[in-house]
Amino acid sequence: MSDPKVQQLLDTAYRDIVGALGEMGYPIGDDNFRETGPRAARALLELVLPVATIEQGVDDLLAKSFTATYDEMVISKHNVCFGLCPHHLLPVIYRVSVAYLPSEKVLGISKLSRLIRLLSKRPVLQEQLTQDLAEVLHSRLASRGSAAYIEGLHLCMAARGIGAHEARVVTSAVRGVFRDQPATRQEFLDLVTAAPTSLL
Ligand SMILES: [Zn+2]
Repeated sequence: MSDPKVQQLLDTAYRDIVGALGEMGYPIGDDNFRETGPRAARALLELVLPVATIEQGVDDLLAKSFTATYDEMVISKHNVCFGLCPHHLLPVIYRVSVAYLPSEKVLGISKLSRLIRLLSKRPVLQEQLTQDLAEVLHSRLASRGSAAYIEGLHLCMAARGIGAHEARVVTSAVRGVFRDQPATRQEFLDLVTAAPTSLL
């Protein structure tokens, strides 16, 4: 399914990583490591999709918008998804909330979650993910405004020497009326940062 060249590069890279673990004294001849190289390569390909796949996916999602009969704020909040940090290639666990104010087009609510998952599967900074989500929901959807709010648990911070186990990176981006009207922006932030309800 994935590009054979990509698969081959990853297989080689992960074989070398396993080799390095052997140099560190780990028993890489054991059963546990037998298929680790290709398995790790497949796992990475679940965290990162090719650029062309992402672009096509966004186009497909937006093509299924329908005409707005609703002009209030639409919010999809607390979507948990995963990405990869470009600095350390370590996973990031995101909790993503987005909102937009429709103008002519509305996206199905499940499409918002799919858009978030899709755009998170890239080796990009959290700041970039936040801005890209706001941008797509504003310019591509021709909305009156959009907002994105993301909390990220970065394993490169949590699990490494910094020891910032509990630290979350928080980013937000706003476009259109969310930028022009502080009250609209605040309404969004209040809704997405409120304590979880007991609904689930
Ligand atoms: Zn990092």
